[in-house]
Amino acid sequence: MRNNLYDAIKNILHFHSCEQEGLRSGQPSFSDWLNAYDDLSDELNYHDHTVKMMKDSIKLWGVEAQKMMIVEECSELITSISHQLRGRQSNVEEEIADAEIVLEQARVIFDSKKIDEIKKEKLDRLNKRIIKAKQL
Ligand SMILES: [Mg+2]
Repeated sequence: MRNNLYDAIKNILHFHSCEQEGLRSGQPSFSDWLNAYDDLSDELNYHDHTVKMMKDSIKLWGVEAQKMMIVEECSELITSISHQLRGRQSNVEEEIADAEIVLEQARVIFDSKKIDEIKKEKLDRLNKRIIKAKQL
């Protein structure tokens, strides 16, 4: 998901905040609202379609095969970053895209809520480390 969905949500929230606070410079027109709504609707549909594709791929090829794809794509990403670090030709961006796709499938295979909970804890811990490091 995601930067586009994030941006669409952020845009709607920004417009809402501007209206709530009565900020003249930021008050959206009716057309702005319609465009923002359309963007968000498109992004949500794209997200739903992506999740359906992840589920379909698992149904078609099976959990074990898709777990193997996760292993392979993450391995290709590791190799491409290693190549880049050693000054060799690499395709890091392509391998990141591949890894993100199989990790979307992993969210269908494994417990997505648990992943989100753990991710939040780890991001909170990282944030505390950043704050502490900036104070030094
Ligand atoms: Mg790959």
